[in-house]
Amino acid sequence: MAKKKIQAEDIKRAAEGKWADLIFPRFGIEVQWKKKTPCPACGGRDRFRYDDKNGVGDYFCQQCGAGDGLDLIQKVTGLSFPEVLEEVASIVGLDATSAITDTDRARWRKERELREKEQRERERKRQEQIARKAEGLFRNAYLGETSLYLKEKQVNKDPKIKIDHHGNLLIPAYDEHGKMWNLQTIEPDGNKYFIKGDTNDLGEWQTGGGRMGGLFFMIGEVQPDLYDSHIVCIAEGYATGMSIHMATGHPVALSFVANNLPKVGTALRQKYPNAVFVYCADDDSAKDNTGMKYAQEAQAITGGIIVLPDFTQIKESIA
Ligand SMILES: [Zn+2]
Repeated sequence: MAKKKIQAEDIKRAAEGKWADLIFPRFGIEVQWKKKTPCPACGGRDRFRYDDKNGVGDYFCQQCGAGDGLDLIQKVTGLSFPEVLEEVASIVGLDATSAITDTDRARWRKERELREKEQRERERKRQEQIARKAEGLFRNAYLGETSLYLKEKQVNKDPKIKIDHHGNLLIPAYDEHGKMWNLQTIEPDGNKYFIKGDTNDLGEWQTGGGRMGGLFFMIGEVQPDLYDSHIVCIAEGYATGMSIHMATGHPVALSFVANNLPKVGTALRQKYPNAVFVYCADDDSAKDNTGMKYAQEAQAITGGIIVLPDFTQIKESIA
């Protein structure tokens, strides 16, 4: 029986708006719109971006190239172009015949699970590597005397951080069990960065790659009280956090970046069940209010209050 030949263009039109939710999942492919994720085809970490910009399931992978939804399915499943066309046609209701069996789908799902497991394993290894590097750098730092950054910001040095011989501040990032996973460097001019990871294929340093989620540094000491509530402030950066500590005497956990506030709040809540959390949001109201947005998200999880630090008052009170 001769089947009517279905045109790729017809299929693409019928498939519009259905790639992410309907079509890809049938081949065991998962995408997130406009978010960098591991590539479903080559497994490259953080190199894949699905944007569907022309409505044909468009994606871009730094490693295996760009294409549309039909290309992606071919790459992932190893099916030929006509086979993919046939399948997608049947999914969007253009043709009822399908050569794909549940066994195929089960295999693709298994393969996807395996890819995801390998990716998690790779990521964990990399994070462990960077954790060791952070510990070594912090332990062996040749100590300097002063930090222009601290002077400029008029804040103290917490005894648990270090100043290296370039005048950089070294601030460890710990998890709730006290394991150091990362290290923030603040250069004298205020430039901040975390541990630099490995070199890439071109021999350039890659920034990032270390664990950040839920990591914090605690300025001062928390005195947990089993019966009464006690205050723990949570702020983003060192200068802000230390200003708050100097003005109030309360311990201040640093989340380093705004979007880490909810994870840090969650980690601290497990550690200090009776603490009242005071989220000291950075005032980004002139920009996009990121600080407030994440402080609110954290507060919704852990309770507590949100304040916008008024630095003029803090400065006056310590003068
Ligand atoms: Zn790829």
